[in-house]
Amino acid sequence: MATTNDSFNGMTEHCENCELDTLHEVSVQIRTESLKKENAQFSREPYRVRECQRCGDRSSQRMNNA
Ligand SMILES: [Zn+2]
Repeated sequence: MATTNDSFNGMTEHCENCELDTLHEVSVQIRTESLKKENAQFSREPYRVRECQRCGDRSSQRMNNA
């Protein structure tokens, strides 16, 4: 239902730094992680990156970690 085609994803989430619910810019980054040498493949892990629009604190979290 969301009809935003804007790249800005504003989410109200709790910021531990502000100790408040603040607006966060949320994006997903695919990061390539090299594993051990015998594993020739690279693992591409999606990370959810969020940045508090109040204090600028950024945190990222691997999405596959559930
Ligand atoms: Zn904050």
